Amino acid sequence: MYFHLILTDNCNLCCSYCRAKAFLDLDESENERAVEIDENIPIDLEYDLDTLYAFLRKDPSPTVTFYGGEPLLRADLIERIVTEAPVQRFMMQTNGLLLNRLSPAIINQFTTIFVSLDGKKDLTDASRGEGVYDRVMNNVRDIRSHGYSGELIARMTVTEKTDIVDAVHWLADNPDFPFSSIHWQLDANFAGDFSRRQFAAWAAGSYNPGIRSLVQDWVDHMETHGEVLRWYPFLDPMEDLLLGRPSLLRCGSGHTNYSIMTDGHIAPCPVMIGMKQYYAGHIRDADPQNLDHISVGGECETCAIRSFCGGRCLYSNITRPWGESERRLVCGTVENLHAALSAALPRVKELLTHGTITREQFHHEKFNGCEIIP
Ligand code: SF4
Ligand code: SF4
Repeated sequence: MYFHLILTDNCNLCCSYCRAKAFLDLDESENERAVEIDENIPIDLEYDLDTLYAFLRKDPSPTVTFYGGEPLLRADLIERIVTEAPVQRFMMQTNGLLLNRLSPAIINQFTTIFVSLDGKKDLTDASRGEGVYDRVMNNVRDIRSHGYSGELIARMTVTEKTDIVDAVHWLADNPDFPFSSIHWQLDANFAGDFSRRQFAAWAAGSYNPGIRSLVQDWVDHMETHGEVLRWYPFLDPMEDLLLGRPSLLRCGSGHTNYSIMTDGHIAPCPVMIGMKQYYAGHIRDADPQNLDHISVGGECETCAIRSFCGGRCLYSNITRPWGESERRLVCGTVENLHAALSAALPRVKELLTHGTITREQFHHEKFNGCEIIP
């Protein structure tokens, strides 16, 4: 199983699509009002680490992903857990500013590090803070120069300020960049901010056509270079299309990927902090191999592309911060992705048949923090 370990709720940034929204007067949906939140979750990890290790020991192959807030604010805990925990695979989701707080001996034990970056410097700094882009790039170059050879994923949060084609190519085409993979997620239907947004026009005029064009570029690159670029919103669903394999929620939340809160309770997803009616137990007595499954409901249950999409997001499916027609706009982006990848499938199969690319090139770590469906 995969476990996000929330080390702290503190963060050293206040990004416009994340913490900064807490200072806005947002609309609250009926569903959000109906969710009971435990307001007494400690800011920092408060349970005994031996309890955590005993829980993880009951799983034959646990993977731990450090998460926050910003997990590197508790570099002391990361170092201790990496050294002591009965775990073979560690991953981390970080804003990258404090990567220099861990020694190469610890960093080099990670299989995957997931770093937030929104594309070019001006776009990244506009959302994340002045100077962030340069500091993050210096740090990721630094860990590579100190021997980090694992997967390094650039993770973009995509908003109406993003030209998706430009942003992905910026990260992918520069030979000096240290990233091995790219992932992105739409800032859509996660907070009651639709009335402040221009989402509909941007999705129709920029994002959806951009995705169609990027899928073409992705397959063109396979043909000309024999390489399958690790662009997660394409890589994971295309592998499933090739195998004819239906997918559950692609981030893994609520079925394979759970989150351990700072008080030891287990939630289906790292964003569902304090949503106690959805908890799957506590590390002191839960069996990691038998945690309750929590699935997406509502319209996802009968959706024609459910086995492709998986349901996009459990948190959003429960809280529904945007209205029904606005939710459909987001589902429209999934339908567009599905149509673009399905149209590319025959060409990808042909490249496989001719040996230009191989099946193994699609192989990737599942549930490594990528939500997959943006
Ligand atoms: S496209 Fe929309 S309705 Fe369909 S499974 Fe995905 S989130 Fe659910
Ligand atoms: S996609 Fe939704 S359910 Fe999955 S990890 Fe992100 S917020 Fe949680």
